[in-house]
Amino acid sequence: MTPVALDHRRLYRLPWTLPDNGISWLEPTSACNIVCVGCYRENLPSSHKPLEVVREEIDTFQRLRKSDCISIAGGEPLLHPQIVEIVREIAARGFKPIINTNGVALTKELLRELKKAGVRGFTFHIDSKQFRAKWRGKNEIELNELRLHYAQMLAEVGGLSCAFNATVYEDNLPYVPDIVEWAARHIDIVHVVVFIAYRQIVPRLVENFEFYAGGRKVDLNPLPYVADGEQNVGIQSTDILAVIRQRFPDFMPCAYLNGTERPDSFKWLLTVRVGARGGKILGYVGPKFMEFVQTQHHLWKDRYLAYAHPRMLRFGRSGCLLLSPLDRGARSVVARYLTWALRNPLRLLRPLYFQSVMIIQPVDILEDGRQDMCDGCPDVTVWQGNLVWSCRLEEPKQYGAFVRTVPKCML
Ligand code: SF4
Repeated sequence: MTPVALDHRRLYRLPWTLPDNGISWLEPTSACNIVCVGCYRENLPSSHKPLEVVREEIDTFQRLRKSDCISIAGGEPLLHPQIVEIVREIAARGFKPIINTNGVALTKELLRELKKAGVRGFTFHIDSKQFRAKWRGKNEIELNELRLHYAQMLAEVGGLSCAFNATVYEDNLPYVPDIVEWAARHIDIVHVVVFIAYRQIVPRLVENFEFYAGGRKVDLNPLPYVADGEQNVGIQSTDILAVIRQRFPDFMPCAYLNGTERPDSFKWLLTVRVGARGGKILGYVGPKFMEFVQTQHHLWKDRYLAYAHPRMLRFGRSGCLLLSPLDRGARSVVARYLTWALRNPLRLLRPLYFQSVMIIQPVDILEDGRQDMCDGCPDVTVWQGNLVWSCRLEEPKQYGAFVRTVPKCML
């Protein structure tokens, strides 16, 4: 695989920060109804938080952070007996409620109830390293059938953002382009695709580092993200990009979030493409386009945009026309669109859609022990009245503080 050389200075740095972000992350439960290899939360069947506690956590978000939406995650949030009330509460406070689910417990009736309560979208976590009844042993191509089932379910109800995420391990990395291609075919009903590089604490790290929390040396074994076998936990977002480019050579990101330690690492790498239903991709918007969208949204709505309404995503043609003087990517979409439409003018009647592809590269432990987290982490959650990284919540839960890594050679 040829490594991708991507210059962060040529992309738009998403303006998301700790107090002002597109997203926040609420976990009403740690219970789950399936098992995922890459999960970082301990599955505790009776961990549903009472509604009062959930309300206090939303209060904390309101007090400390502007955000466009609140991702309701877990665990599996649909298992919470008051999930409809939670959605209603979030919507009433002016946030867009987005449910992050494996989909297993989602019925058409529940979907309609959640829509009535104000849910604005779903992110379905589906990948081949989950233990799902009926889907065991299926690869990512076969799982596209399950993805389509949920996308169609949402489309039937209408007005909901539909996103899919998949954890990327060494063995499903070659399948990433198949998901990207499938999503292009269904660009009218699939709005976001997210790939998250797999991370765990593997034996090699345990051998090379000592771990401290609150000044005490700690044993990591109680953490759910400690793996007993050696695996590749170093997949970079640019590795995922390289694999995508094997099939889509002009696939081009427009925006990113850097790491807290490395300004040129791509912890969140966003690509927005424009295309027509059936798989015709006409191009990729550039950094200026995304800068315009984020700043205008903030100017008028006082918060940065995340999970755009599907209605907005149908304006691929007019959006690119409007911003083509500003953005080279939008200009090239317009040029390709005109050539494509001239070959068959009936194509002028077809809408063009925007679709986002996000690649996430979670924590990296650097050789000197520094931990490169996502700078402007969108997925912060609440712990004891404070905002903390959701990917490492088990550490304060277990030790009262985040774990620091100290290389043994420095001791
Ligand atoms: S720091 Fe962790 S929780 Fe925050 S965005 Fe990155 S991976 Fe997600």
